[in-house]
Amino acid sequence: MTQEGPLILVVEDEAALRRFLRAALTSHGFRLEEAETGAAALRSLTTHPPDLVILDLGLPDVDGIALTRDIRGWSAVPIVVVSARGREDDKVAALDAGADDYVTKPFGVAELLARIRVALRHARSATALEADDAPLAVGPIRIDPDRHRVTVAEREVRLTPTEYRLLWLLAKNAGKVLTHRQILREVWGPEHASDTHYVRVHMAELRKKIEVDPAHPRWLVTEPAVGYRLREGGA
Ligand code: CA
Repeated sequence: MTQEGPLILVVEDEAALRRFLRAALTSHGFRLEEAETGAAALRSLTTHPPDLVILDLGLPDVDGIALTRDIRGWSAVPIVVVSARGREDDKVAALDAGADDYVTKPFGVAELLARIRVALRHARSATALEADDAPLAVGPIRIDPDRHRVTVAEREVRLTPTEYRLLWLLAKNAGKVLTHRQILREVWGPEHASDTHYVRVHMAELRKKIEVDPAHPRWLVTEPAVGYRLREGGA
């Protein structure tokens, strides 16, 4: 553990899970602050501003989704939500409230570290004001925004404008889950935020063009009941 590692605020009321997170994160070079309640989390956020927050949705004093919305009102700190299995509505609500990603209990260290790395990288590139027209590469997929040209393993694929916008959005957020609502808002506009079938239909078309086996997608993966994620190259 070094003093230079990113500072993570763990907001979790279960002592056993805090111990697990402390062991897992400090051994990977992260520094830790811990809070057992939403109130303690808000204090810690102002006194020791962290680089990332791991937030359990089931807290004793406040609703984790309301807390996410509250934090997002004044801070851009990445938030990775921890939720119990089977609470898909909570995950979606937390993501729509501004959380960056989620892990489902029980989760493994490798999965958590992957989510943390993606969230930290997106936070850094957001502050670095990355050029919006720089080419993107994710796995075998290359996107050249200047010419709206997409290749998969060097083979050019022809996308409709909607498919292109969908792929571009997912590629800009590679590794990160996007909810149906977030995708609809960005690709189709806020008035279509409930038209989930748009995403399903266009995702199916996009998979036919991108995936070797569209029925078992390797890159454009479904996050059940939540949304979609473009897998990162190394994963
Ligand atoms: Ca809890």
